[in-house]
Amino acid sequence: MSDDFSRLKRINFINTNRCNLRCVYCPQGSHPDEYHADLTPEFFEEIFGFILDHKLEEAGFGYYGELTMIDDWWKPIRRILDAGVKAIATTNGSTLLSPEEVATFARFRYIEWSIDTHDVEILKKVRKKVDVRTIVHNFHLVRAYCLLHDLPLPDLAWTGVLTINVAETLPEFVAYALSCGVKTLNFNEVGIYDGAVARGLNIVDQEGEEFERAASKVEEAVRLAARHGIVMNMAEMPRIQAKRDAMRRGDSFGQPLKRHSTPVADCYIHNEAAILPEGYTRACASPWEEFYLDPKGQVFACCTRGEVMGIAKTKAEIEGVLKNEKYQKLRHSLKTGVDLDSACANCLIRAAVPVEQPERKSTGTARWWRRLKIRNAGDDVETRAKKAAAPATVE
Ligand code: SF4
Ligand code: SF4
Repeated sequence: MSDDFSRLKRINFINTNRCNLRCVYCPQGSHPDEYHADLTPEFFEEIFGFILDHKLEEAGFGYYGELTMIDDWWKPIRRILDAGVKAIATTNGSTLLSPEEVATFARFRYIEWSIDTHDVEILKKVRKKVDVRTIVHNFHLVRAYCLLHDLPLPDLAWTGVLTINVAETLPEFVAYALSCGVKTLNFNEVGIYDGAVARGLNIVDQEGEEFERAASKVEEAVRLAARHGIVMNMAEMPRIQAKRDAMRRGDSFGQPLKRHSTPVADCYIHNEAAILPEGYTRACASPWEEFYLDPKGQVFACCTRGEVMGIAKTKAEIEGVLKNEKYQKLRHSLKTGVDLDSACANCLIRAAVPVEQPERKSTGTARWWRRLKIRNAGDDVETRAKKAAAPATVE
């Protein structure tokens, strides 16, 4: 096996880039027809062969689009599970799961349920066409199946996008999650995607009393989660606190949003915290340890970088892309900190580290990168440099 694959441990792929929901902050529904594609059985066989040949430890499903939209999606995934590969997924849980689907999810190592809020009406405003009661019922079906069959529970997290809409009832949502046995809540920053129907949903972009009320609700929710032992990964928290501090001092806060390409559409996000100091690179092992593949065969180096690294529809083509010049260049730039492209230089999900510092362990799971986001977001350059110099705390 080539050196290029010696560290490879995870493939992330999607069986469709379509979704049955139209969340207001998402570009779903805005793509031209030719954008949409489902994974063919032939392509799946190539992917499965690649997983077996390279003895991959993990397969991630559903970084965009909805896994459960495809009939019998669980059949090919069971083959991957039967081969001893750990499965992780994100699902919107919007359609009632069949017994086969429940039994398959029960074998996953980690599942993120995209939920945003427990409030039926608020959820319809932001995620449209989905009833939170269906999501929660599906979640409990998987838990109940595991309990009934003496299976270890998968790590079941609830995840959301922190819009101004959900902030008001966030403490109640934490209490609701607690009563459902949820141990992990992940909230991501709301970016502005090209094609998304809503703008200005970020709490940090609100002003005056509206901002203050939302910020205090978020803090209340975080305190409640901490009191009850829920891990609450809140990417926006440091920035919310920084804005509060600035407002109290009477200072202005924030910089213009920055445009990034992503694997699904261009997106404007805050990146005050992501500027790379001189002599630094990113603590990122994604180009060595994992890759993202869509049903059209587009290979991406990570979940956030929009550059297509190559097109691959067979085992050999996947291997070819992972060894190609683009990949060599990307790995070299991350290793040396020289000629980092704008995506890596401004990356929000990997910490800045001095180039001479030995590489840190990287790319555990989606939760891992969220923790990094929290570590860095909202800090000034000096604070980031201090954090980067401190011993690594991320597993
Ligand atoms: S955010 Fe997820 S669930 Fe919502 S429309 Fe986009 S892909 Fe579908
Ligand atoms: S540094 Fe960020 S953008 Fe670059 S490959 Fe790693 S995760 Fe992707």
